[in-house]
Amino acid sequence: MGYTGAMTRVRFAPSPTGSLHIGGVRTALYCWLYARQTGGQFVLRIEDTDAARSTDEATQVVLESMRWLGLDWDEGPEVGGDAGPYFQTERLGLYKEYADKLIASGHAYRCYATKEEIAEMRAAYEKASGGKRGFRFRSPWRDRTDGDPNVPHSVRFKTPLEGETGWDDVLRGPISVSNTEQQDFVLLRPNGLPLYNFGCAVDDITMKMTLVARGDDHMVNTPLQILIYKALGAELPRFAHLPMVHGPDGKKLAKRHASVGVLEYRDLGYLPDGVINYLARLGWSHGDQEIFTRQELIEKFSWEHVGVTAGRYDGKKFEHVQAQHLRMLDDAELATGVVPWLKKRGLDVAPDDRKLIAAIAPVQLRCATFIELADGLDYFFRPDDALTYEEKGQRKFMRAEDLPQLKTLRELVAAADPFDAETLEASIKGWIERDALKMKAVAQPARMALTGRTKSPGLYETLVILGRESSLARIDRAIAVIEG
Ligand code: GLU
Repeated sequence: MGYTGAMTRVRFAPSPTGSLHIGGVRTALYCWLYARQTGGQFVLRIEDTDAARSTDEATQVVLESMRWLGLDWDEGPEVGGDAGPYFQTERLGLYKEYADKLIASGHAYRCYATKEEIAEMRAAYEKASGGKRGFRFRSPWRDRTDGDPNVPHSVRFKTPLEGETGWDDVLRGPISVSNTEQQDFVLLRPNGLPLYNFGCAVDDITMKMTLVARGDDHMVNTPLQILIYKALGAELPRFAHLPMVHGPDGKKLAKRHASVGVLEYRDLGYLPDGVINYLARLGWSHGDQEIFTRQELIEKFSWEHVGVTAGRYDGKKFEHVQAQHLRMLDDAELATGVVPWLKKRGLDVAPDDRKLIAAIAPVQLRCATFIELADGLDYFFRPDDALTYEEKGQRKFMRAEDLPQLKTLRELVAAADPFDAETLEASIKGWIERDALKMKAVAQPARMALTGRTKSPGLYETLVILGRESSLARIDRAIAVIEG
């Protein structure tokens, strides 16, 4: 049985060494969902004790990613009026205190062996065993207590020489590893910085975690952490080891497969709720349901339905989920959401702009992200005399033989009264029938003239959104371009 604290307490403990990988975020998400579902707490802890690899920039990326996804954390030391997160480098005194406790109880010792000495022992082992690997360092200091605490040393754990260490994994069931597999691992470096297993175990104990979820690449570390728990007489949390996220080829998801940093999805115009929906489903299921709101995820998430086989990233599916979430927004939300993306394209449009509100519904049907939405709306806001034409479309549908259609269209647009979709449809369809034209022969040159593209909302709708004046100006310009 795991730790029985009444309140669920879970954490996300990234090392700030790069972008926040969506595989890691999935772990954070499951913990966050679980905390929100149970009314528990979700702690964010930055494991920044690897001085050579940790950067402030990466920490900012973690915080920005979590905030953008809406994965809020509950506590931490007050920093600039904000609660948390915790930083391990601000807790070094605590690790020292726990290392001293372990030394005093005989579970750890001060080790003065230098790197060079250890390397020599390893070389001697490999030589004697004919190049075999698997060297396990046994320190000559293991049973000594006479070392001077003022002389630089590391603190090593005194790993039991027999017995087994195991746990009942939430996702994988009982797992057990022989203690003879382990060496006397380092808890504290001579500079006082803890190694991952020690910092992590001390924090998870003192932060009273009830469940520790992390990637299955950490399964080798869990027995070491459990040894530390036991030596400190601490109650074990439950452990859940999540499979990695794989690329389509079955290898760990990497840059060559797809964007892996969370913020890249923000920059592609994805919605945070769509990202968490897709990531949640990548390794967890609830019947056949694919689309979940954030609230539904909170209600329905369960560890029992998290699988142990690696989820495979599928970009198409991700886009589909995105599109569904975009569709859940109403026109005003879409307008507000797309305005910054239009601004980035140099189009200064207000969220309550008449044309924007009118164009959003038809355009969004073709879009999965805000970038696509901004792209699909772009031409409505370009000055009539600055519209650019897609090259292929121009070649195919802006030829001399398209001129008569554009000229007649111009007359009908000028004459339509009232200027609405029904009137335009009736008069344009009437002309097409009368002259036995193909719809495409009219619609495609018209699209090119009005939007510069071969794909856009329907012709009548587009005319109405642009308005008569703009539509006429654009048709005139296309005619002029064709006539050269
Ligand atoms: N800092 C570790 C990592 O980012 C944390 C693993 C854990 O959750 O214990 O992999």
